[in-house]
Amino acid sequence: MRFGHIAGDRMLDLVNTVAWRLGGSARTETLRTFGDVVDWCVESDLISENEAVTLNDLAAQDDAGAERERRQVIEARERAYAVLLEDDPEAAADLAGMYRAAIAVADLVHTGGRWQWRDREADLRLPRDRIVRGLVALTQRDDLDRLHQCEDARCGWVYLDTSPRRNRRWCDTKDCGDRNRARAYYARQKAKGVSDPPC
Ligand SMILES: [Zn+2]
Repeated sequence: MRFGHIAGDRMLDLVNTVAWRLGGSARTETLRTFGDVVDWCVESDLISENEAVTLNDLAAQDDAGAERERRQVIEARERAYAVLLEDDPEAAADLAGMYRAAIAVADLVHTGGRWQWRDREADLRLPRDRIVRGLVALTQRDDLDRLHQCEDARCGWVYLDTSPRRNRRWCDTKDCGDRNRARAYYARQKAKGVSDPPC
């Protein structure tokens, strides 16, 4: 797996395709190419391996179109972040507009035991349309009171806190959790007058 899948909803995992979201200049985009978007979609079961082959072929013939689509995916992702974390009504209006475009190119069909959108064509906009529909579905979840942002000062990753006591503080206990616990430990030692750890 190239990308993080820790959020409890794949579309929240998409929101986490930015590393150090709150880290200023350390902020790092992980969807750097259209191929990255396709890889993320395959990992997240949003598109099939066969569709990925078709999309990568199409992208090879249309660099500019593929890059435009990558940017729109990022735009949709950032709108969703602003809706969910900042209650931004303008972002919600933008996301709704993207959604109207995304359902205009699909039919609602009963397949695989449930109703789902089926795209009429597999073209470069396919990842964006599925992502936008997924992001809107995410905003409709009835358990968003469990939405939580990692308490690391720079991380910014988000997840659904499904712990029984609703006390999950970190995106990943081994990453942000350990780092922050170590920092707090050394801060306490320092306060007690113990010297800094060797580097
Ligand atoms: Zn974190």
